[in-house]
Amino acid sequence: FRFSRRPDIGDKINVSFEFFPPKSDEMEARLWETVTRLEPLAPDFVSVTYGAGGSTRERTARTIRRILNETNLTAAAHMTCVDASREQVDQVIAEFAGMGVKRFVALRGDPASGVGEAYQPYPDGYANAAELVGALKRVADFDISVSAYPEKHPESPDFATDIDMLKRKVDQGATRAITQFFFDNDLYERYVERVRRAGIYIPIVPGILPIHNFGQVSNFSARCGTHVPAWLAERFEGLEKDPQTHALVAAAVAAEQVMDLVERGIVDFHFYTMNRADLAFAICHMIGIRPRAIARSASAAAA
Ligand code: FAD
Repeated sequence: FRFSRRPDIGDKINVSFEFFPPKSDEMEARLWETVTRLEPLAPDFVSVTYGAGGSTRERTARTIRRILNETNLTAAAHMTCVDASREQVDQVIAEFAGMGVKRFVALRGDPASGVGEAYQPYPDGYANAAELVGALKRVADFDISVSAYPEKHPESPDFATDIDMLKRKVDQGATRAITQFFFDNDLYERYVERVRRAGIYIPIVPGILPIHNFGQVSNFSARCGTHVPAWLAERFEGLEKDPQTHALVAAAVAAEQVMDLVERGIVDFHFYTMNRADLAFAICHMIGIRPRAIARSASAAAA
């Protein structure tokens, strides 16, 4: 890798990690192992997703509360507009704010009935992510991230419409966009050029999905419009029943993608961890991010 000539670059890179709220005690234990392993990498923030229709509201809140109470991490709460009135969404915002949350990832969300169904704004709900950003900003000067789609959102008729929505979210106060995962860095770079030409200057942080299971990722990619290049499929060919080699290939693929982005001048990365530390940790190591000692506050240490 050309990157290997710049060993000090890790100091200049900021990472964030995304988790989903666990459904069972066993999943909670795994998430907690992951959080414990990734915390020393001193991410800028970690975020916790929000299920369709607010289905994970309680679990998202509980996960965030635990992160705030038991770690030194900064937690960002994802929120969506799905199946909730403005009043209900405002209540959730107040609940998170009351817990000490200062960062949000504001999304429209997908219909609870499933991706692919036409989205219908809830009667008297926020119609889209831009309106949700506005609602958050009316409460406090939160740090708000929003989504961005290097290959455009499947519902967008064209890039102009897609980027116009991003502009509306920025106009309402979003200061960072995190992209849908992608595997072709040229598409990302072209998208960022389009965004800049539209007069949008916030960071467009690449969302990196380490491939824990290529079959699942291919299916998911098809649903959200992410192109899976033929070379990527070839790399995982025949590894369905060989998890060890699959994991090694996945680490190499993600590290190669991230290193190439670093070469292109990108210094912020968001990892879709799928609540697993191994690949995210290995990739961070390869880009020069090393664990730091954690100074625990008295309350966190007692937890
Ligand atoms: P928006 O930014 O409002 O719209 C995305 C694009 O779709 C726009 O560019 C617009 O052109 C087009 N569009 C939107 N609405 C319409 C319409 N009615 N007609 C035509 N075009 C339209 N989902 C969850 O449920 N929970 C999460 O926690 C979550 N976290 C995410 C985090 C990130 C970083 C990303 C990238 C996605 C996340 N999602 C999450 C998925 C997201 O909810 C879906 O992609 C959803 O379909 C769009 O939400 P959005 O906020 O991106 O939409």
